[in-house]
Amino acid sequence: MNIIFLGPPGAGKGTIAALAKEVLSIPHISTGDIFRAAIKNETPLGKQVKSILASGELVPDALTIDLVNERLKEDDTSGGYILDGFPRTIPQAEALETFADIDFVINFTVERDMIIRRLSGRRIAKESGKVYHIIYNPPRVEGICDITGESLIQREDDKEEAVVNRLEVYERQTEPLIEYYTEKGLIRNVDGSDTPEKVLASFLAVIGVDKS
Ligand code: ADP
Ligand code: ADP
Repeated sequence: MNIIFLGPPGAGKGTIAALAKEVLSIPHISTGDIFRAAIKNETPLGKQVKSILASGELVPDALTIDLVNERLKEDDTSGGYILDGFPRTIPQAEALETFADIDFVINFTVERDMIIRRLSGRRIAKESGKVYHIIYNPPRVEGICDITGESLIQREDDKEEAVVNRLEVYERQTEPLIEYYTEKGLIRNVDGSDTPEKVLASFLAVIGVDKS
């Protein structure tokens, strides 16, 4: 199954994808994670996109589309995949149609107040890639990753100024995709405000997968 996770920043797309990929045995492809890894490793791509990510703006379509097109050619995608954070614009969605067949577009809905609370408390571990929340999903030891023992950090773009900009960017450039995919009959709405386990269960139910 080829699935897109759509929804505002902080909706829980990455968190649910990390759980769902185990249940469905398909890779979780996050363009944000790919960009952050490139920045961490100081690759040419990383240098190109570093200031864009920090500001909360979007990476240019052509670059992002090429990246995803290449990623979807890898063998691990043959049994399906979850695309998290792509497409984020109408041109990206149109391009995706030329190289992928999408089965479902999951639209995670969450109120704005909750989005802000989730983003402001989000902490990440760069090495393990694990995502925490200081209140909703704290590590066992405050500020320390359970897996690697590394110190948790706040993403540059989760700081207040960038968050406001990111939500505007989402409303202007990404939200139109809801209508785009509704017209194609692919949208499935999932209430993202419940616990991760319940959101996962709702997601599996809308795609017709019985977890038990
Ligand atoms: P979140 O899940 O909090 O919305 P992501 O990790 O998906 O954030 O993305 C972080 C940043 O990476 C975005 O703000 C944007 O700068 C860049 N990015 C990720 N995906 C895309 C995309 N499909 N198109 C353009 N830029 C992207
Ligand atoms: P996205 O990928 O959509 O930007 P994340 O999965 O990174 O969102 O989640 C944003 C923050 O909210 C993280 O700190 C995460 O731990 C927390 N979070 C995610 N899903 C839930 C949930 N269902 N309930 C409470 N907190 C959540």
